[in-house]
Formats: sequence, C-alpha cells, structure tokens
Amino acid sequence: MTAVTCIGLGLMGSTLARAALASGHDVAVWNRTPGKARMLADIGAVAPDTLADAIAASPIILICIDSYASTRVLLETNGVANRLAGRTIVNLTTGTPREAEALSVWVGEQDARYLDGAILCGPGAIGTAGGELVFSGDALAWQVAGPLLTCLAGKVRSVGRAVGDAAALDLAWLTMSYVKFMGVAHAASICRAQGIDLQAFIDLFPADPFACKLARIIKDEAYDQPTATLQVWGEALARIQMQARDAGIPSAMPDFVAGYFRRAMDMGLGQQEAIAIYKTLPVNEQPT
Ligand code: NAP
Repeated sequence: MTAVTCIGLGLMGSTLARAALASGHDVAVWNRTPGKARMLADIGAVAPDTLADAIAASPIILICIDSYASTRVLLETNGVANRLAGRTIVNLTTGTPREAEALSVWVGEQDARYLDGAILCGPGAIGTAGGELVFSGDALAWQVAGPLLTCLAGKVRSVGRAVGDAAALDLAWLTMSYVKFMGVAHAASICRAQGIDLQAFIDLFPADPFACKLARIIKDEAYDQPTATLQVWGEALARIQMQARDAGIPSAMPDFVAGYFRRAMDMGLGQQEAIAIYKTLPVNEQPT
C-alpha cells in the first residue's frame, strides 16, 4: 500500500505529487490524461490504470483538479465511491465554502473522512520553506493527514473546524491578486499612452515583487510559460463570484474583473499567464 494517492497531475497537482515523493513517501498517482501519470511513474510513483485502483492504493487521497464539480463526478464513478470508506479525502482544489461543505457531507455519507484545503502559493514554492497550505474541517482527518501534508510545504496549518474556512480564506487571499492584475494592466496602459518604457514603472516598486513580475511579463510579452493559467485564474474568480452570491455579499468587484477574464478566454488566451488580460485593453490610437 502507498501512503498517499494524488489525483490530478496538472501544474499544481504534479508538483504536490513530486513533493510527496521527495519527502520519502510512497505515492500513487492518477490523472484523467494518463501521460501525466507516466511522467510521475518514471520518478518512482505507482500509477494504477484505473481511478478505483488508485483510490484503493492509499489511506489518504489528495485531490487537486479543476473544480469540485469534477471531483464529485470522479468520486461518484462506479467502483470508486464504494472504495472510499475508511479513507481520508483531502481536497486542494480551489472552491467555495459551500462547495467544501457539500463535498464534506457527501464524503461522510461514504463513511470516509474529509479535510478541505487551499494552496496559498504557486507550484514553485511547493516543497520549499515559502510554500503555504491551509486546511479546515474534521479534526481527526487533520490528525491522520497532517503529518504527510506538513511535508509538502514550509507553512502548513489547520485554520478552523468549520470545513469552509480554508476555502473562504483562500478566496479572500486570491481576491487581492485580481486587484493587482487589473491595476498593473491599467498601469501598463497609462505608460503606453505616455510613451514610457514599462521598465521605468518596474523600477518604482522593487518592494512589490508580484507587481514587478506582472509588469515584466507585459514588457517582455512573456505570456507563454504560466505556473497557473489564465483559465485556472478565471475559474477561481468564478468561485469568488459564487461565494459572494452564496453569502449575500456584494459581487461588484469580482463581476467587473470577470468581464476581462471572459474577454481574454474569448480571445483564446486561456493557456497564457493571467496578466494576458492586458491584451484585452484596446489601444486608443486617437486620444480625445
Ligand atoms: P491545470 O494545470 O489546468 O490542471 C488541471 C488538472 O485538473 C489536470 O490534472 C486535469 O486533467 C484535471 N481535470 C480538469 N478537468 C477534469 C475533469 N473533468 N475530470 C478529471 N480531471 C480534470 O491546473 P492547476 O494549476 O494544476 O490547478 C489545479 C487546482 O489547483 C485548481 O483548483 C487551482 O485553482 C489550484 N491552485 C493552483 C495554483 C497554481 O499556481 N497552479 C495555485 C493555487 C491553487 P487533464 O490533465 O486530464 O486535463
């Protein structure tokens, strides 16, 4: 038996699986597109052919895919749901508190334990002191999975008993990034209109590495090697909108930003860096 099964081997999921392997754990992996699992098998993971066998392989199941809806479809698959009993399911997919609560209830109905988690860093920080993961929910699930999860990043914490707390804190944290995306994109437009090289803007903010990184991507037109795609950021933004509706709080800010992400997706920019939303801003050739 392996210690953990990692389901979902995209940019983030594959990094989590590598970190689990690097920390000395036996790891099983499964991905919808099998080629990605073979890459992990090459460095020591077990890669069962079926999702059911991957679930059966470990007592802890770590999920990191596109959405809770897909997670539910996977777990409800014939031959999968009936293998969950007694296992601890840890979901690191970005979602809303309500989605976390619903999945927690469903997993409980399968006689399994559920821990909800959120990743407050990019793949580059996983397995390093700067990586940050937060979890909330079932205290016993945290007791079971905590020692393994602690090996995946430098800062790994349980942030609450209420299962939706990690998702809420994640969405609150992510919201600040969208403010920066919009701010840097508009700042670049200002510089372009004034004929200022974007390097002059970058030089103003040495203490803000995120703003500098975004501005540099625009300056160098280096949109093609994202560590999280515009599509993934767009899906997280949709979760921020959903949370606002669920909680009855204003959604004007995420709704406004979502218009830019929708336009970028329509322009075929989904696999680029999120700051490619800059390309949706029209160049005003004839100022008034
Ligand atoms: P990604 O590179 O786009 O990978 C998406 C993963 O989801 C792939 O394994 C994909 O499988 C799988 N998937 C998509 N639709 C599926 C479906 N219907 N059924 C089964 N599997 C499906 O995304 P990522 O960057 O790894 O992000 C994964 C999660 O981590 C997201 O919730 C994201 O918000 C969160 N996260 C990411 C980052 C980051 O910096 N990348 C940071 C924090 C949190 P295929 O390979 O078959 O397409």
